Amino acid sequence: MILIVDDKKENLLSLQSLLSSQGYPVETAVNGEEALRKVLQSTYGLIILDVQMPVMDGFEVAEMLSGFSKTRDVPIIFLSALNVDKKYITKGYRSGGIDYITKPIDPDILLLKVDTLYKLYEQKRELNRMQILLQQEVEFRKKAQQESHENAQQLRAILESIPQIAFSCSREGKIEYSNTHWQTYTGNSEYPELHPDEPSFPNILNEMIHQKDVFEKEVRMAKPGQESYRCFLLRAAPSYKEGKIKSWTATFTDIEEQKQSSRRKDEFLSVASHELKTPLTSIKGYIQLLERTLTDDCPGRLYVERSLLQIQKLDSLIADLLDISRIESGRMKLHRTNFPLDALVRRAVELMQQISPDYQFKIDGESDAVLYGDEMRLEQVLLNFLSNAVKYSPHQKEVLVSITTPDKNQVKVSVADQGIGINKTDQQSVFDKFFRSEESIRNFQGLGLGLYICADLLQRHEGSYGVTSEPGKGSTFHFILPINTTNPN
Ligand code: ADP
Repeated sequence: MILIVDDKKENLLSLQSLLSSQGYPVETAVNGEEALRKVLQSTYGLIILDVQMPVMDGFEVAEMLSGFSKTRDVPIIFLSALNVDKKYITKGYRSGGIDYITKPIDPDILLLKVDTLYKLYEQKRELNRMQILLQQEVEFRKKAQQESHENAQQLRAILESIPQIAFSCSREGKIEYSNTHWQTYTGNSEYPELHPDEPSFPNILNEMIHQKDVFEKEVRMAKPGQESYRCFLLRAAPSYKEGKIKSWTATFTDIEEQKQSSRRKDEFLSVASHELKTPLTSIKGYIQLLERTLTDDCPGRLYVERSLLQIQKLDSLIADLLDISRIESGRMKLHRTNFPLDALVRRAVELMQQISPDYQFKIDGESDAVLYGDEMRLEQVLLNFLSNAVKYSPHQKEVLVSITTPDKNQVKVSVADQGIGINKTDQQSVFDKFFRSEESIRNFQGLGLGLYICADLLQRHEGSYGVTSEPGKGSTFHFILPINTTNPN
């Protein structure tokens, strides 16, 4: 907007109509006082000031305008009836004016000057605005840089305070930071020395950077010059920038103590279960012999039969413990042959029927699937599912075994009971080692090993497994195994 200040109304009108005809928004003031009031209320891009006005002349107005920050930069065109006198020009420029025009006014020259000064002002305003924005941006960046510096410092302080060896590296695996524990295992070398049987540290870094997610690996390391290797868990987590891995932060945690105690526990389990197995086998043999010597009506027969039942339970617990120690020590061996699945299912169900005469077992469906695997071990899996179906269904005594073929390469066996069921959260853990639901711990005996062993055996047979269940309504456990299409024998 342009403000025209002149004490003569006719001048104001003619200037106003000239500028308005060119599309400029215009306001007017008849004296210096009114002009000052207006410039404080509104924003103007140009002020056209008559020099000769009563009370306050144009130069005085301009001088006052140059004193306000709001108006300091607004260009002024002085209108003067006087000849251009140097004295006035200087006075005019000092007080913030930018140009002069003498009366009588040549409209073309005035419009030219107005156009130039108005544009100049607009550009200057735009420049100021951009400068402010730039300044804000600089401030913002400075703050962000400061924050990121502080965060990095904090991360380093954390990495220094932990007992683990810690380091961070670039996306390409270049070490960028390591804490003081790192030196304990690197000494004067660039990287820690790993056990000769393991890949070198650069190879592990290479494996890590090709990972998309958290990377974990157990490695053995010795301090420089020493030969006693300790087991460490290397755990590295990537940091992302715009969806891409930017860097890795990693720690080595000393897990030697856990490893040793787990080894000792495994050894103990293995020795204890072997040592228990031998006398138990003898006891079982003698009791079976004793049973044969007793007539049906002998009063002690009942006790002998009960003893045999308990021995059976003990036997299966020890068998589970032996299996666990075989799995943990990598000594679980499979004796694979070709065998028909349906016969295995019938055998297992008949056996369960004998052991649990109050329960009703039904087989639904059939297949002519021939599997290649360890028949005894797979029968053990099915017997485990069946005995769980019996154990966890104390009131509903029907168990349904289904055989289906989801496609020509696979066969599925499901065992459905109508027992206590398993809640959603527990369903995810039933195949974990030692897992037992709260209800099972309270009301049923067991070690929580059976399904873990089943899962391991099924994995060794390239099979899959799962459970669906509704608490209070029952559970269905299933496994799927590949059908032997090409006979390897
Ligand atoms: P155990 O029966 O000795 O506890 P398992 O490994 O066979 O060990 O089973 C683990 C847990 O899974 C059980 O403790 C029980 O909580 C749950 N579970 C297994 N089978 C069933 C079933 N048919 N119905 C309900 N819960 C089951």
